[in-house]
Amino acid sequence: MVYRTDYHIHTTFSDGKAAPEEYIEAAIAAGISELGYSEHLSLFREDQNWCMNPDNVATYIEYIDNLRRNTKDLIVKTGLEVDFIPGKGKEIGSFLDKYDLDYRIGSVHYLGEKTVDLGPEFYEGKSFDTLFESYFNNVTDAVSSGLFDIIGHLDLIRIFGYKPTMDPEPLYRKLAKVMKESDIVFELNTNGRNRPLADFYPDRRYLHIFSEEQVPVCINSDAHTPARVGQYFDEAYKLLKETGFTEKAVFTKRKRKMIRL
Ligand SMILES: [Zn+2]
Ligand SMILES: [Zn+2]
Repeated sequence: MVYRTDYHIHTTFSDGKAAPEEYIEAAIAAGISELGYSEHLSLFREDQNWCMNPDNVATYIEYIDNLRRNTKDLIVKTGLEVDFIPGKGKEIGSFLDKYDLDYRIGSVHYLGEKTVDLGPEFYEGKSFDTLFESYFNNVTDAVSSGLFDIIGHLDLIRIFGYKPTMDPEPLYRKLAKVMKESDIVFELNTNGRNRPLADFYPDRRYLHIFSEEQVPVCINSDAHTPARVGQYFDEAYKLLKETGFTEKAVFTKRKRKMIRL
């Protein structure tokens, strides 16, 4: 059987709908060998009820450590999905350095003070081309910050199905090159299938660029409920193989290893 990992899971520690232990059985049923939790953490943004309170990070890590000790049938990993806030890299780094994680997912949800994934209202009266480019600029800064092991949903700005009028290919190419230089992993995030976009992140038309530039990949569900762990993975694996990928990244204590896809 293929060794599958799913490193992007949200539980009631942030905006997920079930407790961490409730995901174990679903993960085993979905053929997952390593299940990694990655609660939302947004420093420098107040009153975000979709995020974990930064004061709870230590408790969360201890909770997952306990779960790992009590789980026999799969390997449990501890991660965080951390918002990259431009200009705050140093502070985010000092905060994260206090904690022992298997991996850090760096994600861009914010453009300015608002998140791009909350609702289509965000896009009203704005130029989508400009937003698209700003989003890629922020993701590029997140990559170059050196804070993260994995970049989450690198083109989340597509969530509502809007399309730029310009050709976005050069932006994907530029980002892929920076990712390679920075030695960072991107995720094929299957959760976009459940959003208005109705497809994976990143855009499958540009996946070949990441393969050509030899950016390492991992496959994540971004599940917020147990039923969605490992969702659409058969299709995701097939797509990656067809695009030329042969390996995927696994992490332990922030050390990366590449294993067969
Ligand atoms: Zn996210
Ligand atoms: Zn997420």
